[in-house]
Amino acid sequence: MSSSSLYRSPPRLHANRRHRAGVTGAAPTQSPAHPGPGRRSIMPKIKTSGVKYPDGWELIEPTLSELHSKMREAENDPHDGKRKCEALWPIFKINHQRSRYLYDLYYNRKEISKELYEFCLDQDHADRNLIAKWKKQGYERLCCLRCIQTRDHNFVTTCVCRVPKHLREEQVIECVHCGCKGCASGD
Ligand SMILES: [Zn+2]
Ligand SMILES: [Zn+2]
Repeated sequence: MSSSSLYRSPPRLHANRRHRAGVTGAAPTQSPAHPGPGRRSIMPKIKTSGVKYPDGWELIEPTLSELHSKMREAENDPHDGKRKCEALWPIFKINHQRSRYLYDLYYNRKEISKELYEFCLDQDHADRNLIAKWKKQGYERLCCLRCIQTRDHNFVTTCVCRVPKHLREEQVIECVHCGCKGCASGD
């Protein structure tokens, strides 16, 4: 019944491979009967017919859908008048937000199945690499992966937002990479 083989690693193809062949006479309904791998398309599957969603999807879909459109908006924002780096802040923020949403649901609140959780990650509704960091001690609140990339920082090994509040001279900060106001674990 709940064969996980239905959901395993949807290929991220950059071509529309949803074939209509072979359905002559049958209305292209949303029947979940045979979602064969060839019918999957790219990008998060918001409102795509022909995909079998794991149980519980309908409960998280509104939130993911909203975050998805926010992300689209942020990506398409012409960012007039903003500094170049600032224009990227919303993207990092939303990425953090949606990853945290799924992380909490699965690891803390235990309200979604592993199957659904993995499905969402496979569909790029969350950042798998960022979540992997949150499981490590000292990185539980990490804002984004850029802020721990040492090559981006000329003199120090971590971004200012990674420095615990009590060790910072300035109490109110906003890091240049993602606009983080501080994400050290103890803060
Ligand atoms: Zn940070
Ligand atoms: Zn930072």
